[in-house]
Amino acid sequence: MSKHLVLVGGGHAHMLTLANLHRFTQKGYPVSVIGPSAFHYYSGMGPGMLGKTYAPDDIRFATQKVVEQQGGKFILGKAAHIDPENAVLTLESGEQITYDVVSFNAGSYVPRLNLPSSVENVYAVKPIERLLEAQERILTLNAKNRIRVAILGGGPSAAEIAGNIKQVADISDQQPPRITIFAGKRFMARFSEKVRSKVAQSLTERGIRIDTSGYVQSLSSGSITLESGQMHDCDLAFLALGVKPNPIFTHSNLPTGPDGGLLVNQYLQCEQYPQIFGGGDCIYFEPQPLDKVGVYAVRQNPVLLANLMAALDDRPLQAFDPGGDYLLIFNLGNGLGVLQKKWLLLGGKPAFLIKDYIDRKFMRKFQAIEK
Ligand SMILES: Cc1cc2nc3c(=O)[nH]c(=O)nc-3n(C[C@H](O)[C@H](O)[C@H](O)COP(=O)(O)OP(=O)(O)OC[C@H]3O[C@@H](n4cnc5c(N)ncnc54)[C@H](O)[C@@H]3O)c2cc1C
Repeated sequence: MSKHLVLVGGGHAHMLTLANLHRFTQKGYPVSVIGPSAFHYYSGMGPGMLGKTYAPDDIRFATQKVVEQQGGKFILGKAAHIDPENAVLTLESGEQITYDVVSFNAGSYVPRLNLPSSVENVYAVKPIERLLEAQERILTLNAKNRIRVAILGGGPSAAEIAGNIKQVADISDQQPPRITIFAGKRFMARFSEKVRSKVAQSLTERGIRIDTSGYVQSLSSGSITLESGQMHDCDLAFLALGVKPNPIFTHSNLPTGPDGGLLVNQYLQCEQYPQIFGGGDCIYFEPQPLDKVGVYAVRQNPVLLANLMAALDDRPLQAFDPGGDYLLIFNLGNGLGVLQKKWLLLGGKPAFLIKDYIDRKFMRKFQAIEK
């Protein structure tokens, strides 16, 4: 029987493999793609969807359609467990799938701080598709009374979410919500002073507060408490506390890096189980830890495509080179952004317009294969 290729998650690192699925099926390799949704949402445009710059259709790929029109099988569900000795995946539904080669691009999640499910009006920056629900909730609540929004976390996604909440209220002709970013002790701590102050200035000029008086200790319906004991009322909270790799690998006792991501070598391959590959936020790249940014997932595309085919064909693998510095652009809402690349720092409308151009071009490239 022909070797079976299984892709877990149709994320950013699998885009090129998905676009070239016909090459696998034409060679006689059956391909199955497992995903919890018929669509994959492009995270770079997620805050823009929250802010109503983009509609959901603008920022998503029709994964199921693309798979099926190239002769692959799309399995709606979530992979829950891997048995690498027997090469069997178990889905949350209990369904079992055997593989000859498998590749994981199952992303990352935002830890929920052990919040009971009874706590209402709490959203996370991921999954991206839920940002639409958050947008509707914000507008409904804010239409009645001017709401207080607490954003927990002080990184780029906190900044992007804050600016786009302001934007969505503005373009919906609503009063501005009172938005506070609870950034711990330092806002945008891993960025240069120039980037930090440019982002902070753009937000504070529009009335968004940045609180750096200490870390959040707990969150309940209606309030947050800082480590100092100080309490702040909030009507809606956003968790933007950083992401963790999909927990499937730790649950399955696979080799992982310190963050729980699938440990892979320079070929994006699990050394202990060579028929397992992976890319994007769910891996830990052993040669050099990588930031959890879509840029790396996108750069991994050609290597994953080549190596999955090579693994099926029993040919040598290609090494992944993460490359150098990458272009950073934050969408801070109201048509404003901050761009940084090496020594270049740009703010305001031009930064947003460049991001919008790059993101729309990326989407057009991969949405073209849906036709
Ligand atoms: C608000 C926000 C904005 C960002 N903006 C940028 C930006 O502008 N530029 C940038 O470079 N980075 C950005 N990032 C970082 C970027 O989101 C991640 O690095 C990127 O999403 C990683 O891509 P991925 O494909 O690994 O994961 P994901 O995008 O999370 O994709 C994973 C896929 O796997 C699926 N999946 C999940 N669990 C399972 C399972 N058990 N079984 C099967 N399928 C599963 C999911 O449905 C999803 O389709 C942003 C992040 C956030 C939160």
